[in-house]
Amino acid sequence: MDTFETELRQILGESGVLAPRDFHQRAAGIWRQSESLSGIALARPRNTQETAACLALCYQRDIPVVTQGGLTGLVRGADTLSNGLVLSMERMSTIEQIDPEQRVVTAQAGVTLQQLQDTVAQQGLMFPLDLGARGTATLGGNASTNAGGNRVLKYGMMRDMVLGVEAVLADGTIINALNPLIKNNAGYDVKQLFLGSEGTLGVITRLTLRLREAAQSRQMSLVAVKAFDDVKRLLRHMDRGLGGQLSAFELLWGDFYQLVTTLPAQNSPPLPHGHPFYVLLESHGTSHAMEHERFSAALEGALVDDIIDDAVIAQSERECATFWSIRDDVAQVFNDGDALLFDVSLPITAMQSYVETVKRRLADTACMQCWTFGHVGDGNLHFAVQVPRGRAEELRESVERCVYQPLRDIKGSVSAEHGIGLEKKFWLPISRSKEELALMVMLKRALDPKNLLNPGKVIDVAGAEA
Ligand SMILES: Cc1cc2nc3c(=O)[nH]c(=O)nc-3n(C[C@H](O)[C@H](O)[C@H](O)COP(=O)(O)OP(=O)(O)OC[C@H]3O[C@@H](n4cnc5c(N)ncnc54)[C@H](O)[C@@H]3O)c2cc1C
Repeated sequence: MDTFETELRQILGESGVLAPRDFHQRAAGIWRQSESLSGIALARPRNTQETAACLALCYQRDIPVVTQGGLTGLVRGADTLSNGLVLSMERMSTIEQIDPEQRVVTAQAGVTLQQLQDTVAQQGLMFPLDLGARGTATLGGNASTNAGGNRVLKYGMMRDMVLGVEAVLADGTIINALNPLIKNNAGYDVKQLFLGSEGTLGVITRLTLRLREAAQSRQMSLVAVKAFDDVKRLLRHMDRGLGGQLSAFELLWGDFYQLVTTLPAQNSPPLPHGHPFYVLLESHGTSHAMEHERFSAALEGALVDDIIDDAVIAQSERECATFWSIRDDVAQVFNDGDALLFDVSLPITAMQSYVETVKRRLADTACMQCWTFGHVGDGNLHFAVQVPRGRAEELRESVERCVYQPLRDIKGSVSAEHGIGLEKKFWLPISRSKEELALMVMLKRALDPKNLLNPGKVIDVAGAEA
């Protein structure tokens, strides 16, 4: 055993360190089971002090560190390095305090999103962030990717729910910015440095998060729409009709709906196949009777105004869960080939022609199928581009070019919510100006002068001008 591993064991105890032979068989990601982790050791700190001591040791030894949460990230942001330490948050999974009066929770970074959602629900409260990977994704991962998900329309992204963070810098310095206040304009808002920076500026160890009163009533409907113009009309119609209670507006193109409601997918279709578009609508409100009436009236209005062609309303919480499981069953795209996943953002006014352009461009590649769906109420589109099994890496660049290049002229973003990681680094200049990129390099150099925290992810500092 080398001296680094010995010193690490002194900090974390025997169970806190895994040697390469004990973690190399771990999968590199939830959808990357055939790839495994590498690194000189895997550290499993239990608290902030242990994390800080690990980082200080790595700083002394010039050892790079890759922090890992639930490994559900989709842009290779947590890919390991053969000469680096893997810092896993798996033992930092305590919800420390819930303050129901202040409606604030303090939790360690390794708590899963679902663990938090379920725990605060027992007190009649809600943590509104929600995404398909809720059972595995961690709060630290959600914060460092500034995750979005299903309810951004009403509650915002993770950034909007984080009141404070505690983070450890590359040299082991602990920054306690665990602010519990909703309003705090006392100088720079330091926590923002760690939100969305994908583990490149610090390791998030604890968070204070804003909670909401649990919605007393949830209404959901799946509707069929014949034209994209009607999708845009529907968004405005429902938002107006529900007086700000619309919490989700998820669009599924007809072929994606067919995929996720046909065997081997487990759900059957609540509405018949064959419509060009399907929209999943959700509202959060206070009284079931009142909300049901308002929701039904808004939908009826949409039918009368010829905005929608058909609709089915969920009759129970169970049906609501089924509707969400249809939307979330993205794994079906891997059934008959490999798939490249995209997460872009653009004005809804440019969406239809952008999708047509991308599909036209993809027709000249070896791609087999392009499914489209997304959080369209937030201007966020996902593409799942199916390619022949085993050819994803060979075809990646040509497919990415089809998807990303048209974003430049319409001022779109190459990442709506998944982040940049390794996967989108090359395309970052499409969405950020030269000056913004230079400022990112400057920040990275200031906070991590030895380039040890998740090096190579998001932005390259080696050789970059600042
Ligand atoms: C089925 C599925 C559905 C998804 N749906 C959505 C969605 O709707 N919206 C959305 O935004 N995303 C979605 N995602 C991706 C999303 O980014 C992740 O689910 C989640 O936010 C990452 O959390 P994680 O704990 O798995 O982080 P990981 O994958 O482990 O890490 C992600 C990044 O965060 C860094 N990191 C992790 N923990 C810390 C920490 N404590 N401190 C500093 N850096 C850290 C890592 O180094 C890496 O760069 C989905 C993923 C899947 C698989």
